[in-house]
Amino acid sequence: MKPVRVRFAPSPTGALHIGGVRTALYNYLLARKHGGTMILRIEDTDQTRYVPGAEEYILDSLKWAGIAIDEGVGAGGPHAPYRQSERKEIYKKYALQLVDEGKAYYAFDTEEELEAMRTRLKNEASSTQQYGVATRMGMRNSLTLSANEVADKLSQGVPYVIRLRVPADQTIELNDLIRGNVSVHSSQIDDKVLMKSDGMPTYHLANVVDDYLMQISHVIRGEEWLPSAPLHVLLYQSFGWQESMPEFAHLPLLLKPDGNGKLSKRDADQMGFPIFPLNWKDPNTQELAKGFRESGYLPEALLNFLAFLGWNPGTEQELFNVAQLIEAFTIERIGKAGAKFDIHKAQWFNQQYLRAKSNKELSKYLLTSLGELGIDCEVDKAEKICQAMRDRITFPNDIFAQGKFFFYSPSVFDEQVVQKKWNAESITVLSAYRDELKKLETITAENAKITLDAVCAKLNIGVGKILPALRLAITGQGSGPDLMQTIEIIEPKEAAARLDFAIQNIAIKK
Ligand code: GLU
Repeated sequence: MKPVRVRFAPSPTGALHIGGVRTALYNYLLARKHGGTMILRIEDTDQTRYVPGAEEYILDSLKWAGIAIDEGVGAGGPHAPYRQSERKEIYKKYALQLVDEGKAYYAFDTEEELEAMRTRLKNEASSTQQYGVATRMGMRNSLTLSANEVADKLSQGVPYVIRLRVPADQTIELNDLIRGNVSVHSSQIDDKVLMKSDGMPTYHLANVVDDYLMQISHVIRGEEWLPSAPLHVLLYQSFGWQESMPEFAHLPLLLKPDGNGKLSKRDADQMGFPIFPLNWKDPNTQELAKGFRESGYLPEALLNFLAFLGWNPGTEQELFNVAQLIEAFTIERIGKAGAKFDIHKAQWFNQQYLRAKSNKELSKYLLTSLGELGIDCEVDKAEKICQAMRDRITFPNDIFAQGKFFFYSPSVFDEQVVQKKWNAESITVLSAYRDELKKLETITAENAKITLDAVCAKLNIGVGKILPALRLAITGQGSGPDLMQTIEIIEPKEAAARLDFAIQNIAIKK
């Protein structure tokens, strides 16, 4: 097998879509698995679609995700420059080579002439309206003009494009590693523009020339590029580069959560989940789109989630850190069918990765939340809170957001619990419990429970009946982390004060 050299080749036309991160990930996994090279090439030849800040955003996103680039923009390497706008001369040379060999030609047609051709063909009810085998000899190009006319036009600076001369009656075949054999008749392909009148190459020319020069072994990209693949094969053939042609693997689409159609930013906005890895402020509209990072997703959880959107290991195992993904990943196990984007699954992965962290690691998140609010908290207490909250959280912020009662005594109380569980009996028990707690400076969760059991036994009331009211008084809520642990953390004097407040302020509803 030749050395694995793969590339992620985004165009800086806006924020990187999450599907782009998946493409980058699959390339990265293959490179790492085979000790190969991961290349980042910026495909910025379409100046009209260039968006300032997009390239930096791509680099930041890959860095955050942990997808390291070995060669390319931001990393350098033997094939620099890796930004296509800086490689204009290279593409020109190759386009001219094809012209010289009769495999491409200059075309001088104006916009009006092209439009007239399309209208004529439409009126003739022709099956195709493309510039190609059937029509090229009726147009103004170097196949129909004399050599002198062409030379004159070029020296006068008449605008021109260079078009590929697609061969007549040929079947173009390629073997996609995911989709199998793809075959297209050359009559389906028009004489694509390779060089535009502004001197810039089109995507097709630049992409193929660079993949060849950069010795790319596998082209792994989204399904939307599958229709372009036969043209790319034709370009390899035109250049005589068949031997060095990369393998192709076109990844399945990412679908809306219900499986109906392609996932779009609009779907994500409507359903309230991110579609970009990092926050992105659209430079034209100033609209801010929240990223996965800012929404609290851990990069390793996101990668695990993305890996499974189109690939599976063939076993039941779902949790794979990056090293395990590298080990298990193969292109053969990528499916053809579109992958439903289920954000709940992403949340599930996030929970799993958070739970795998130690209390010490989790406490850093909590201490950050607290620091922003100017709330002091000892590390020991923060770690205990994390222990109490760890199985309940989806995002790092949840530790504080769902555990505010560790820092503030409640002033509002869950109405439903008040209705159902707050009564004379609970007040009797809670008063007695409060009196016990008041005597103590500290208490363990275990002793908090023993004390409560004793109080209940003395009053001959079942502990189970009392717990909802106790939780209500301590936290204001109907559910939450282990209550005895909560009492240990807030300490008995604070717990007693909260019971006092509740007893005095919550009215009995029945
Ligand atoms: N520049 C293309 C994109 O933005 C790259 C497609 C390819 O990988 O060939 O997706």
